[in-house]
Amino acid sequence: MRTPHPYSVPSYEFRMLLEAQRKRLPAAEVGADAIDEALRRIQQGHYGICIRCTREIDRGRLKAAPTTQTCRRCGGEAG
Ligand SMILES: [Zn+2]
Repeated sequence: MRTPHPYSVPSYEFRMLLEAQRKRLPAAEVGADAIDEALRRIQQGHYGICIRCTREIDRGRLKAAPTTQTCRRCGGEAG
Protein backbone atom coordinates (compact mmCIF):
# COMPACT_ATOMS: atom_id res chain seq x y z
CA MET A 1 0.00 0.00 0.00
CA ARG A 2 1.37 3.38 -1.01
CA THR A 3 -1.09 5.52 0.92
CA PRO A 4 0.53 6.95 4.01
CA HIS A 5 -1.43 5.72 6.94
CA PRO A 6 -2.61 8.23 9.50
CA TYR A 7 0.10 8.74 11.97
CA SER A 8 -0.86 6.93 15.11
CA VAL A 9 1.89 7.91 17.50
CA PRO A 10 1.01 11.13 19.31
CA SER A 11 3.54 13.45 17.69
CA TYR A 12 2.73 16.30 20.04
CA GLU A 13 4.77 14.68 22.76
CA PHE A 14 7.75 14.31 20.46
CA ARG A 15 7.38 17.81 19.12
CA MET A 16 7.68 19.19 22.65
CA LEU A 17 10.69 16.98 23.27
CA LEU A 18 12.42 17.99 20.05
CA GLU A 19 11.70 21.67 20.50
CA ALA A 20 13.16 21.54 23.99
CA GLN A 21 16.28 19.85 22.61
CA ARG A 22 16.49 22.37 19.79
CA LYS A 23 16.44 25.31 22.16
CA ARG A 24 19.40 23.93 24.01
CA LEU A 25 21.44 23.54 20.83
CA PRO A 26 23.19 26.39 19.01
CA ALA A 27 22.23 26.38 15.34
CA ALA A 28 25.66 25.26 14.20
CA GLU A 29 25.84 22.43 16.69
CA VAL A 30 25.95 18.85 15.47
CA GLY A 31 22.47 17.43 15.71
CA ALA A 32 20.63 20.72 15.17
CA ASP A 33 19.97 19.80 11.55
CA ALA A 34 18.59 16.43 12.54
CA ILE A 35 16.24 18.08 15.01
CA ASP A 36 15.06 20.60 12.42
CA GLU A 37 14.47 17.74 10.04
CA ALA A 38 12.51 15.81 12.65
CA LEU A 39 10.36 18.85 13.39
CA ARG A 40 9.72 19.26 9.68
CA ARG A 41 8.68 15.64 9.48
CA ILE A 42 6.23 16.15 12.34
CA GLN A 43 4.68 19.10 10.48
CA GLN A 44 4.40 17.04 7.33
CA GLY A 45 2.97 14.10 9.20
CA HIS A 46 5.74 11.61 8.45
CA TYR A 47 7.36 11.66 11.81
CA GLY A 48 7.93 8.25 13.31
CA ILE A 49 7.70 6.55 9.92
CA CYS A 50 10.77 4.68 8.74
CA ILE A 51 12.19 6.30 5.60
CA ARG A 52 13.23 2.92 4.23
CA CYS A 53 10.33 0.57 4.83
CA THR A 54 7.62 3.15 5.75
CA ARG A 55 6.63 1.20 8.83
CA GLU A 56 6.08 2.94 12.12
CA ILE A 57 9.18 3.30 14.19
CA ASP A 58 8.95 1.75 17.61
CA ARG A 59 8.04 4.34 20.22
CA GLY A 60 10.76 3.22 22.58
CA ARG A 61 13.28 3.82 19.82
CA LEU A 62 11.88 7.27 19.13
CA LYS A 63 12.05 8.16 22.78
CA ALA A 64 15.67 7.06 22.96
CA ALA A 65 16.56 8.80 19.70
CA PRO A 66 13.82 11.25 18.66
CA THR A 67 15.63 12.25 15.48
CA THR A 68 15.95 8.75 14.08
CA GLN A 69 14.42 8.20 10.65
CA THR A 70 14.68 4.46 10.41
CA CYS A 71 13.13 1.62 12.32
CA ARG A 72 15.25 -0.76 14.30
CA ARG A 73 15.50 -3.26 11.49
CA CYS A 74 16.44 -0.75 8.81
CA GLY A 75 18.82 1.01 11.19
CA GLY A 76 20.76 -2.22 11.26
CA GLU A 77 20.50 -2.71 14.98
CA ALA A 78 19.91 -6.00 16.66
CA GLY A 79 16.65 -6.50 18.47
ZN1 LIG B 1 12.32 0.32 8.38
